[in-house]
Amino acid sequence: MKTVQEFLGPEPMTGIDGERGRHWIRHEDGDRLWLVLDRQEVSTNTFNEEVFRELNALLAHAEQENWKAIVFRSAKYSGFAAGADLSQFRGVEPSAELDARIAEANAVIDRIAALKATTIAVVHGTCVGGGLELALACDRIVARDDAKFGFPEVLVGLHPGLGGTARLTHRIQPIEAMTLMLTGKTVDARKGRSLGFVDAVVPERDVGKAVDEAVAGRMERRGGGRTGDALNLYPARKAAAYQMRNETEKRAPAEHYPAPQALIDLWEKHGGSEADMLKAERQSFAQLLPLPVTQNLIRAFFLREKLKGNGKGKSGIAHVHVVGAGTMGAEIGAWCALKGMRVTIEDPQVASLGRAVAGAHKLINRKLHGPEALHARDRFIPDTNGVGLRHADLVIEAAPEKPELKRSIYARLEKEVRADTIIATNTSSLDLAALFEGLAKPDRFVGIHFFNPVSKLDLVEVVRHDGVDEEVYSKALRFVADIGKLPLPVKAAPGFLVNRALMPYLGEALLMIDEGEQPERIDAAAEAFGMPVGPVELADQVGLDICLAVADSLAESLERPMPPVPQWLREKVQAGQLGRKTGKGLYDYDSDNKPKKDKVKQAPDKAMRDRMLLPMLDAVASTLEAGVVPDADSADAAMIFGTGFAPFRGGPMHYAKERGYADVAATMEKLVLVHGPRFTPSRWWQRAHD
Ligand code: NAD
Repeated sequence: MKTVQEFLGPEPMTGIDGERGRHWIRHEDGDRLWLVLDRQEVSTNTFNEEVFRELNALLAHAEQENWKAIVFRSAKYSGFAAGADLSQFRGVEPSAELDARIAEANAVIDRIAALKATTIAVVHGTCVGGGLELALACDRIVARDDAKFGFPEVLVGLHPGLGGTARLTHRIQPIEAMTLMLTGKTVDARKGRSLGFVDAVVPERDVGKAVDEAVAGRMERRGGGRTGDALNLYPARKAAAYQMRNETEKRAPAEHYPAPQALIDLWEKHGGSEADMLKAERQSFAQLLPLPVTQNLIRAFFLREKLKGNGKGKSGIAHVHVVGAGTMGAEIGAWCALKGMRVTIEDPQVASLGRAVAGAHKLINRKLHGPEALHARDRFIPDTNGVGLRHADLVIEAAPEKPELKRSIYARLEKEVRADTIIATNTSSLDLAALFEGLAKPDRFVGIHFFNPVSKLDLVEVVRHDGVDEEVYSKALRFVADIGKLPLPVKAAPGFLVNRALMPYLGEALLMIDEGEQPERIDAAAEAFGMPVGPVELADQVGLDICLAVADSLAESLERPMPPVPQWLREKVQAGQLGRKTGKGLYDYDSDNKPKKDKVKQAPDKAMRDRMLLPMLDAVASTLEAGVVPDADSADAAMIFGTGFAPFRGGPMHYAKERGYADVAATMEKLVLVHGPRFTPSRWWQRAHD
């Protein structure tokens, strides 16, 4: 067993000497008491009622003793604490019991704030949400240099609810505090110090000394200075809140995302007094928690976890060779290098390789700094002779969408790679069985389908075909998780899931343009539903050439009719007007690559929304019917993380469920009468579902 002094080293912080409860370790150290959080059976500390009750008992006991200081720390590698265990918030209803639960948790944090002893939070790694709220209740925060702080609550439709809104706006300059909470961004230890809530930043070896300084009263509390106090006065608060509301409305309209506005209201009305704000924060939090929007955003959080779970364990893949350094290959390679893989990349066009290197450096320099960035750049190696093939654990082919070309590439690869190398294709629309036919070892082939832009879209479809080896397939899933993406298992079928679902939606939008509808109005109809961008802008982002290729391929391979592609779209593609990437597509683009949009002439109506949205829901239902995706939750997750489907709606199938499957099917039947048989609802809706 190690003592606390011993564990204050770079060693793993487990097996600490002390009185061990279920989740907390109590260690007496002269005139100091250490309370070390080590939540059982999880690798990251989160808070739930049990963790708080145990802490409450420890605090009650400590109040009876005469400690000079009480120090809070975590025994986990991963960090201090990641906040509330969100599973306890699922399905809550407004009730006196909910209010009581929130009050009980707050009472524990308030108890820390009221302790007579000097309280110190020693923070390493992740310290977000409730973890930061606990730290803020302490007199001093000492951060190890790897600490990361933030309040990500807005991302799940909430604001801090354990005193964080009140304590942070009164500890540092309140506009900085509000910005941190409104954006949900994390900041590192140094930024925390310059903002003023971190009082000292030290390497692990100096943590003990920093605690000594704090206990001896020689560590100043940094805080937000006089400006901070002045900005909490009413006239300043009112003006700042007005501005924040406008800014926030642009990014997260209050109609769909009430939490940021609730946070601004809270500070505007109660920011003059920390005590008032503490009280009001609980009420506001209790109101937000049961809202369907919040519950759906919490659902989206768990959907992400579900996808992550598809790739549990390490893949063992260390070297990736990419064939084709175009739009996709270049970014896939850059992403893999960023995430620690050694990457070799080949392309017959030297210019493509040059662009790929420049693009990879740009991405890496944006995400990493110093030696880490240098090493990542070194890991991305242009390979004109295909030398990397012999060393590669995985080859990803991202050559043009031409079956003959791809087949000839595979025939070459089979000769050059090791026997255990996995070969993956990034194809969007080709039939995998036909691509791999006649190869010596088709069982080592798999589809790994990334989305464009790779660095922004987390979803990756991992495509299973009948002949794949199970170990190859599961390794491919694990590889996707290794590079921090979300693997979705899908069966080989036209368009897999995401393109199959997206194309009817985009196709209806194009038809509406053909019928004379204003593109801006079409986009506004989808945005009013909560899509981050409308279908017209999305088609431009994906690329009209890609849309056309996928639409044609689906029209050819699916039995059910797709929306007919207007002739002018083909002409646009031929003329090289491919969307955002060429500066001209369905919209024209300005120098910042933003679409030049006119004002919407007439507000969109619900009929427009249903005409675009229901074919998308129906396509998802038909992939479920055909067993392309494992279940409705996986499909929802994929649409949220692969296309940006309004997360607060909980995903397309969740939305359909809330709306009523029968209503979805009946509305489609009506659309058949107006627009034809492509709206015939899938059989899936008629069957009984739980
Ligand atoms: P691209 O045209 O931008 O790039 C293809 C690259 O392959 C070019 O640089 C070309 O020089 C190179 N190439 C040509 N012949 C080659 C050969 N014999 N060996 C190696 N490289 C060769 O195409 P892209 O958009 O990157 O698409 C690549 C693949 O990814 C396609 O299968 C496509 O369906 C798929 N995909 C594309 C997107 C997208 O949005 N662009 C999204 C998902 C999947």
